[in-house]
Amino acid sequence: MTSPVPLRPAVFLDRDGNLNEDVGYLSALSELTLYPWAIDAVRLLNRAGYLVVVVTNQGGIGRKMIRPEFVPELHAEIDRRLALGSARVDAWYYCPHHPEALVEDLRSACRCRKPETGMVDDAARDLGIDLTRSWVIGDKWADVQLGERMGGRSILVRTGWGVLEEAVRPAGQAVEAVCDSLAGAVAVVLARDGGRVG
Ligand SMILES: [Mg+2]
Ligand SMILES: [Zn+2]
Repeated sequence: MTSPVPLRPAVFLDRDGNLNEDVGYLSALSELTLYPWAIDAVRLLNRAGYLVVVVTNQGGIGRKMIRPEFVPELHAEIDRRLALGSARVDAWYYCPHHPEALVEDLRSACRCRKPETGMVDDAARDLGIDLTRSWVIGDKWADVQLGERMGGRSILVRTGWGVLEEAVRPAGQAVEAVCDSLAGAVAVVLARDGGRVG
């Protein structure tokens, strides 16, 4: 009998407004601007032993604002830029659905659109993640609520929609921290967990 592989903690990162500037429906590589701290932030998480997983709602696919083939192209380009700084995203997940999608197959109240947990559940199964020891970082309350629903912790960042979101905090909504950017959020994660998890 081999002993089971121990589950690892992950940091789930929202994409738009967290790793890169939120330009609305990002639909061309020329519109991609990583925040200047993004590469360092991801590398710090890599080195601390977290799996780094991006989870992004891309309802623009269902709304025909974004070509479906573009999303993997964009993620490959982000991977390439991260690699130049020795940083790595371990896996990418995106939800193409939208309740008002024009594409009929994508019009649904799906299990993956954040704050639903489909993407983190898939990642947990695919990569062996302990969701209760994991974090979500993003610029919307849906990101914070995803962390809550998966039994982990969440940080809201003030980049992207974050400042506006902070001003309309849902009643009773808890959050581990609100930080100016992903850089600060990673510092909080490392401090709370003691710096190294793997
Ligand atoms: Mg976002
Ligand atoms: Zn979905």
